[in-house]
Amino acid sequence: MKTTLAAVVLGMATLAAHASDRELQLPDSVQQGQLVVGHAPKGAKIEYNGRRLLIGPDGVFVFGLGRDAPTEAKLHIRYSNGKAGDIALRVGKRNYATERVDGLPQHTVTPNPELLKRIERERDRVAETRHRNDAREDFENGFIDPVENARISGLWGRQRIDNGKPMAPHFGLDFAVPNGTPIRATAPGLVALAEMGMVLNGGIVVLDHGHGVSTTTIHMSRIDVKPGQKVKQGDIVGLAGATGRATGPHVHWAANWFDVPIDPALLPKPGASTATP
Ligand SMILES: [Zn+2]
Repeated sequence: MKTTLAAVVLGMATLAAHASDRELQLPDSVQQGQLVVGHAPKGAKIEYNGRRLLIGPDGVFVFGLGRDAPTEAKLHIRYSNGKAGDIALRVGKRNYATERVDGLPQHTVTPNPELLKRIERERDRVAETRHRNDAREDFENGFIDPVENARISGLWGRQRIDNGKPMAPHFGLDFAVPNGTPIRATAPGLVALAEMGMVLNGGIVVLDHGHGVSTTTIHMSRIDVKPGQKVKQGDIVGLAGATGRATGPHVHWAANWFDVPIDPALLPKPGASTATP
């Protein structure tokens, strides 16, 4: 569902009159953790949180709302005729439960200094892969789940207490699957990282879908893709496992807008077209 933004435009009453062949479009409502997909008028430039957003050939742009994003998100837009202004979006607040996970390998919860250094190095390497800002709109036709018909065993955003120790929120959607279950590319993309053996992630694949959007699967027992390779939606990128910080085989599916973790459950689904009507 899309509307033009007449209702939320601040100080820009003449907006629609100046939109040439397209109008600014944003979802009717958005919430914390959401990847927001919009469409810009021709020639417009849009900024969010100080970042200039890429705009696709059909006007598509995206930005991510973090887990604890403020209740108002502001977009700055400059039209091709030079007029500019801010657009405020009301952001729905979510409540996140607390989740206790016990039985994790203790060294992955309280690592010794040496292991901690390695964990930090690995974290930086993963973070680097999420800095890409490619002019590819691979996110535009929606995302499928990495595995089919699997039980969801962990929700995104929950406050985690691992082996009794409060940890960072859980930035993934977990699917309980048997060891060796094939994992699919959830959208077309470029393999930004494919590596086994990380301390917390185990086997990890990061797919870049353009405009800073990436998806990640971890705890994999096998990886079938290489960095730099292009994949189609549904291609098998590897197999599920329990490598890294895991109590049993599952797929931990994460999504990002640059360094902002977003909720994979809120990614657009295939068929829920984001294209301009
Ligand atoms: Zn998880």
